[in-house]
Amino acid sequence: MHLYLHIPFCRQACHYCDFHFSTNTSNKRAVVEAIVSEIILRKDYLPKADIETIYFGGGTPSMLDGEELHLLLDTINQHFTVATNAEITLEANPDDLHRDKLQQLYNAGINRLSIGIQSFHEPHLKFLNRVHSALEGEHCVKIAQEIGINNISIDLIYAIPAPDHSILMQDIQKTFALNISHISAYCLTIEPQTAFGSWLKKKKIKPIDEEYAAQQFEILVKTLAENGYEQYEISNFARNGHYSLHNSSYWKQKPYLGVGPSAHSYNGVSREYNVSNNARYVEAIQKQIIPATLETLTPADQTNEYLLTGLRTKWGVNKEKLELLSGNSFYSVHRADLEKLSEKNWIREDAANWYLTDSGKLFADRISSDLFIEE
Ligand code: SF4
Repeated sequence: MHLYLHIPFCRQACHYCDFHFSTNTSNKRAVVEAIVSEIILRKDYLPKADIETIYFGGGTPSMLDGEELHLLLDTINQHFTVATNAEITLEANPDDLHRDKLQQLYNAGINRLSIGIQSFHEPHLKFLNRVHSALEGEHCVKIAQEIGINNISIDLIYAIPAPDHSILMQDIQKTFALNISHISAYCLTIEPQTAFGSWLKKKKIKPIDEEYAAQQFEILVKTLAENGYEQYEISNFARNGHYSLHNSSYWKQKPYLGVGPSAHSYNGVSREYNVSNNARYVEAIQKQIIPATLETLTPADQTNEYLLTGLRTKWGVNKEKLELLSGNSFYSVHRADLEKLSEKNWIREDAANWYLTDSGKLFADRISSDLFIEE
């Protein structure tokens, strides 16, 4: 099974971010203790099985101090069996990752870091309102590797407005120089409930130029492929099979338990969404109540989610599974659409699966939604 912990605190709000987090850390300890209680309350959510992956996401989990991290890991170990080779990832920001902290994480058993680098270009970091400097981004990767954490992923953001593609190329080259085995590359998007969203409304910034974004994506895909990175999911690239096992489990529809404010859980038939409010989360958990909304997934929901996530991966979507999930309605509804998409060279098939082609990857969400089934 797979376990996700949401640590909902950040030092400052990045201008593009609409994840759930708070910059008020006054109740950090109370939230951590509530997550500890939730782990215990939810220990039977999924059938008993060894934990294969643990993922500390956020927010900024590198803001946990050593004691808080141990408290969480000790609770997990007391109530679950963690596989000896489990992947244990912690999302971290460079400004937290000084040598002592990295040593502490390594000693605690964190064996994979997902570092929020976003760019190695100082003005771009300022534009995004990141706390860290370009130099801190570079240094923390080197120190982590010296200490022995070699399974490192970095986040990069592309389509940041710039006169040409040279800064993106510099970011990619820096990634190669640092010998980083996994890259998650996300297109800058402007979400309504963010600083960028409000500036866009007031016309202080321009919308993201779609053509420029598509060009940057093509540069990324091409340059990374030429340098040995496999695009195993549209936004995720790995060298030498260093896939994120945790994220792959989501894309493969594996059940998982998510704890903490705003975390989601999935057991194969329903999803649960924890409240996205730290104070309300703590209050409910203190009363032994899980503050979650339950959504039972219909055959259409299950089919559509499978299409949305599965088509983005190198594993594609399985033909038999589509029929099974949709109650044998998928092909009767979409035979003609599949033919059209094949003719456009946006999808391809083999005996078992459907996959996006390279040109189809540019229109992934549109293709999935064209293949959605209705209730
Ligand atoms: S991008 Fe990461 S560090 Fe920035 S506000 Fe969002 S969760 Fe926090």
